[in-house]
Amino acid sequence: MRHYTSTMPDSKSASGLTEFEVIAKYFARPARHAVLGVGDDGAIIAPSAGSQVVASTDMMVEGVHFFEGVHPAALGHKALAVNLSDLAAMGATPRWAMLSLALPAVDPGWLESFALGFFTLAERHDVDLIGGDTTRGPLNICVQIMGEVAPGRALRRDGAHLGDDVWVSGHLGDAAAAVAHRKGDLLLHGPLLEHCLARLDKPTPRVELGLRLAEVASAAIDVSDGLLADLGHLCSSSGVGATIDFDAIPCSAELLPLRHHAPVTRAILAGGDDYELCFTAAPGRRRAVEAISAATHIGATRIGSITEGGQVIARDEHGKPISLEIRGFDHFRR
Ligand code: ADP
Ligand code: MG
Repeated sequence: MRHYTSTMPDSKSASGLTEFEVIAKYFARPARHAVLGVGDDGAIIAPSAGSQVVASTDMMVEGVHFFEGVHPAALGHKALAVNLSDLAAMGATPRWAMLSLALPAVDPGWLESFALGFFTLAERHDVDLIGGDTTRGPLNICVQIMGEVAPGRALRRDGAHLGDDVWVSGHLGDAAAAVAHRKGDLLLHGPLLEHCLARLDKPTPRVELGLRLAEVASAAIDVSDGLLADLGHLCSSSGVGATIDFDAIPCSAELLPLRHHAPVTRAILAGGDDYELCFTAAPGRRRAVEAISAATHIGATRIGSITEGGQVIARDEHGKPISLEIRGFDHFRR
């Protein structure tokens, strides 16, 4: 796009690279599953015959979604991972991604590392980068992803029924514990700190799990803003409520001894950034869910059930509702 203010001029930047050289050097890779990839005014994709296309986008802004100074390889990974996680929650097969980048400057070392993080994950999931936009500005990374699903087979938020079980994959709370540590609200160290930081900076999208769950789950959402908030979104879409047991929520062995410590309780119930899947399934599907969990080597834990009414209630070990001030992340909350 033509820029009218000083953005990334056609004349060489401090690094000696123009905008187009940056794109060619770091982001133009042959597209294996597209008719036309990076380099033209638009990419051309040809979805498999009869499939539906699922599209999603997620933006990452410095100071809002990540701390200044996070390793660029982790940023490249995470920018794609959070989008893959949305497709996982939809039960879709990821295929194509687009990347829009605002960069304060052309830093070849940063770009090299960012691209490595991005493409390593893209290759793992056989996703093509088919286009994007590159401009000068405060660091901002926006990925759009598209994937495929058989008609009517996508997992959605609106399919939960009264009496369904509520499940969650993997562990919750690690990423938010790392955020609490970085903000100085919680002090972690040693292997626990390493573990939580890795979960925050390099989340693993549950793509394979989501694909298999499409067969058995009634509804799903990925946990990006916090369990209570995200389960709340699923419930409001489905017109139901949920009751979950705090002690049933899976957390990593590393966090287990701290789970009744307030900042950790909050991280587990209301912390975001875990990118696990929260899903519902009829009680008759328990065996099937367990088989999928075993086949994918990703834990799936039953944490409660779907109820009438719109409330999401988390109970403590005595069955009493736990009240939390912060129930989940909302960018516009004052
Ligand atoms: P236009 O001016 O037609 O919008 P651009 O000059 O912005 O095109 O981009 C040139 C080509 O490079 C396009 O195919 C675009 O999709 C691609 N592109 C730009 N930035 C990126 C990026 N960060 N990653 C991948 N592809 C990119
Ligand atoms: Mg154009």
